[in-house]
Amino acid sequence: MSKKHDHDHAHALLPPEPALRVQAIETLLVEKGLVDSAAVDAIVDAYSNDIGPRNGALVVARAWTDPEYLDRLRKDATSAISELGFSGMQGEHMVAVENSENLHNVVVCTLCSCYPWPVLGLPPAWYKSSAYRARVVREPRAVLDEFGLSFPKDVEIRVWDSTAEVRYLVIPKRPVDTDAMAADELAGLVTRDSMIGTGLALAPEAS
Ligand code: FE
Repeated sequence: MSKKHDHDHAHALLPPEPALRVQAIETLLVEKGLVDSAAVDAIVDAYSNDIGPRNGALVVARAWTDPEYLDRLRKDATSAISELGFSGMQGEHMVAVENSENLHNVVVCTLCSCYPWPVLGLPPAWYKSSAYRARVVREPRAVLDEFGLSFPKDVEIRVWDSTAEVRYLVIPKRPVDTDAMAADELAGLVTRDSMIGTGLALAPEAS
C-alpha cells in the first residue's frame, strides 16, 4: 500500500462537511487518547470569547484614548494593530472603520466567513449564517434591529464586505461619561459585537 493510497483513504473516511470533519477528527483524537475533549472545548471557547475579542478591545480602547494611535490606525490599521502584538493569519490587511454620530459601520463576508482572527478570534455562528450574510447587505436596518440596535434615519448605515484581501474592524463610539476611565478599563466596555457593528460599546456601570 503506497503512502499516496493511505492519504486518500484517510480522507475518504471523513465526512465532506467541514464541521462534521472537525468533529470526526476530534472524536478520533479523543478515542486514541491524544487529546482531551474538554481541553479542545476550552481552547475553542477561549479563542471565541476571551483571547480574540479582548485583543480587538485593546485596540479600540487605545484608539479612544490616544489620538496619535488613532491616526496611525486610520492610515495603516494592520501596522497599528501589530504594534500591540496582534497580527497573523486573517489579519494581514486590516482596515479600521469608525462609527460617529452620523455613521454606523457593520461588517459581513457575503461570500463565506472572512473575519479578522487576530483581533476578534473565531467568528460567531450567526456571522457565518447564510441569513446574516445575505440580509445585512439588503436590509441592514432590519438586521440591526434584530440585534437590538436602531438608528435614526439621518444616521448612515455602511456595510463592509470582507474579502480574502481586506478585513474590517469597527471602532465603536466611545460611551458617554467615560472621560475619567483609563484604556484598560475602557477595554472592558468593548464587546465583540460592537467591533463587528452588530452591537454598541457598553455604558459604564452607574456609580
Ligand atoms: Fe469570507
